[in-house]
This record gives sequence, structure tokens and C-alpha cells, in this order.
Amino acid sequence: MNKFENSKKIYNKAIKKIPGGVNSPVRNFGSVDMKYPVFIKKAYKSILIDEDNNKYIDLIGSWGPMILGHNNKKIIKSVKKALKKGTSYGLPTKQEVQLAKLIVENIPFIDKIRFTTSGTEATMSAIRLARAYTKRDKIIKFKGCYHGHSDSLLVSGGSYLLTGEIIDSNGITKKTIEDTLLADYNNKESVIELFEKYKDEIAAVIVEPIPANMGIILPKDNFLQFLRDITKEYNSILIFDEVISGFRIGFTGASGYYNVTPDLVTYGKIIGGGFPVGAFGGKKEIMDMIAPVGNVYHAGTLSGNPIAVAAGIATLTKLLDNQIYIDLEEKQNYITTKLNKLIKKYNLKVCINSIGSLFTIYFGVKKVENYEDSLKADKDMFNKYFKYMLENGVMLPPSKYEAIFLSTCHSKKNLDYIIKLTEEFFISMN
Ligand SMILES: *Cc1c(COP(=O)(O)O)cnc(C)c1O
Repeated sequence: MNKFENSKKIYNKAIKKIPGGVNSPVRNFGSVDMKYPVFIKKAYKSILIDEDNNKYIDLIGSWGPMILGHNNKKIIKSVKKALKKGTSYGLPTKQEVQLAKLIVENIPFIDKIRFTTSGTEATMSAIRLARAYTKRDKIIKFKGCYHGHSDSLLVSGGSYLLTGEIIDSNGITKKTIEDTLLADYNNKESVIELFEKYKDEIAAVIVEPIPANMGIILPKDNFLQFLRDITKEYNSILIFDEVISGFRIGFTGASGYYNVTPDLVTYGKIIGGGFPVGAFGGKKEIMDMIAPVGNVYHAGTLSGNPIAVAAGIATLTKLLDNQIYIDLEEKQNYITTKLNKLIKKYNLKVCINSIGSLFTIYFGVKKVENYEDSLKADKDMFNKYFKYMLENGVMLPPSKYEAIFLSTCHSKKNLDYIIKLTEEFFISMN
């Protein structure tokens, strides 16, 4: 059993200087009924090591970026090489063009792309661009989808907004909230109603094509094609927020996987190989509205930072090899098939949603197809599971609403250990 004395000491200092002791709320283990989070000292491959020298099989993967595992040799080499040349210039570099080419030439619907420093900036800018292009104000988002922390997207969000039961963040103007219309994922009727009511006021529909911030939910009955068709019909922009799914469900993300083409796409997480990078891209005629070509403002002192770009190039170059995605999916199939067998064997009310190298285990429910289903999953049972795994050396994302991220570094031995522990927990549930 792991001990957490050093983490506790650091936390007691942290809460005096940093709100909640963390710089992103989901890292606060209060969400899983724990008094303080684990502080991480270092990581390699599939392993995290905390300040008490406990080792964990990491299933968070920094919330997505670490698809090639921690401390990947190629990425570190590329970053070291870049570091020798300085860390930031505030002027353009050849490497930014290289990263842009890597993406534009391999993703058919992207003509042009802009880099940002986070996923939040990418979605915020994509929305602004859609509003400018359509000359309309309102947007549709889906309950439980998370698109970062810009004002108009913090209405009924996923991730920690769900975990912490923050329906809408405080500090957002009424007008902003009014311009964000809410629909239900996998519920076509809810989208049709909004379009019929607001018609030519809707600038864009923004969606996580594979929602991953209320647990993993899969699109049903061609839901994504439906969104493509209805946005076209009403001359609205379709934005796929692929900050998680991009380069994760194959190089071309969910758009490629489901063969549905959005007008704009946003990226983050994997694209920076563990450094702060985001991006938004799409059709030339829309993208060329951005300053300095047009008058839609987007900027960033560290946008396209050379170190982050070096990590991004190393990561995406590696991911051009489609075999990586086949192997990742095989790992996911291996673990979820075994877990599903155990669920049957012990006759448990537990279900698993999975795709590519992502999955979520939902306790207390038989199926999860939408936001309402996800809300019904048993938080207390998940929290018990989290603690059991943590104490035995497996780091799950600390919320029932998050996805498990597998990497190329998870070994069969890692997976078998997770299965064994989960079986012990399943037995204890009866
Ligand atoms: C993480 C995430 C974001 C926000 O990205 P940050 O880099 O944390 O700002 C946006 N959209 C989705 C789908 C995400 O998962």
C-alpha cells in the first residue's frame, strides 16, 4: 500500500499559495474524496513516480498528450536540439511551417492552420472566427462537452465543471450565457429545435465529435453526419473540437474515423507532445479572415513556440505510422474485453465505453449513450475504485467523468496488472 507523507507536506504548503493547491481543478483529489492530491516528481514510459517515490501505472497520460508515453526518446532529442538554439524569438521559424505542413498535408479538409498555446485558445478563436464569418452571435454547444475555459464555452461544461458540480462558472455575463444555446449530444431533436427557433442567428455548432469529458460517449445513428447536414442547411459553421480525439483516434481524428468533414477543427494536447500547444484550422476562405490577412484577431506571444513545435513535430511524425493506432486499439480491446467478461462473470451493473486508445468504466449503470446517462453513473463507487487502484499503484483520472488514456508504452504486463486489481475490486463490490 502506498504512503503519501511527502505529498501531504507539499500540499499543505501549496494551499497557502495556490488556490486549492492546484493549477487546474481536476488535479484536486477532493473530487475522489481524498484530502490532498499526489504530487508527481517524474515519469518515464507508462510510469509516474510521486514525491514519496510511489510508482504508478499512469492512465491519465497528462489528459491526452502522452500518447507515446512519458520521456519519449525521440521527443526529448528533438526538444534538446531546439533548446540549444534558444527558447523563443517572437518571430517566425521554419519549424512552425514544418508542423503546419505535417498537419495540412495529412488532413484533407484543413487548408490552413494557426497555432495557439492551449486548447482553450483554439476553441475560443474558432468561435470568434465562425461568428465573424457568419456575422451571427449565437452558438450551440452540447451539455457535458468541454471546450476549455473561455467564457462562452463554460456553460454546462464537462470535465471539472461536471465533477465539481459547477453548472455555469460565475463571472460570466448574462449576455454571454444567452448566446450559448445548449443541446443534448446524440439527440437530433434537441438540435433541430434550436435551429428552428433561432434560424439565422446561429453562427456555429461546436462539439467534441467523441465526447470525452463526461466520460467517453460514442456518436449514435450518424449523429455527426446529421450535424454536418443541419449546419450546412442553416449556413452555420460546424466546429469539431478534436483537442482530445485529434491524432488519438487515428492521425485524422474523429473526422477521419467517421468520415465527416467539419468547417473548422481545433487541436491541443497531443499536438504539443507534452508542451503547451493548440491549433485551429479549416477552409482557406474562413482561415484567411484572421489578422493580418483579415480583421479577426488572434495572437500569442508564445504561439508556435520553437520548443513546443519541436516536440509537436517529433510526436506527429511518429504518429504518421498508422500501425501505432492499430496497436493502441488492440491494447484497448485486450483490456476492455477482459473487463467486460469480468463484469458478466460477477453480474455487475457496470459498463464500459471505448474507442481507439480511450475508455471509461461507468459504475452503477448498464449503458451510457448521453449526458443524462453519464450523470447517473455511481460516483461513490468510482471513488472507491480510484482509491483502491491508487493505493495499489495505478493512477486513474480522478473523476468518474474522465477518460482513461492508453499510450504506446503500456505493456501487456501493465494491462494484466490493471485487470487483476480491477477484478479484486469487482469482487469486493458484491
Ligand atoms: C482539454 C480540452 C480543451 C482545453 O484545452 P486546454 O489546453 O486545457 O486549454 C478543449 N477541448 C477539449 C475537448 C479538451 O479535452
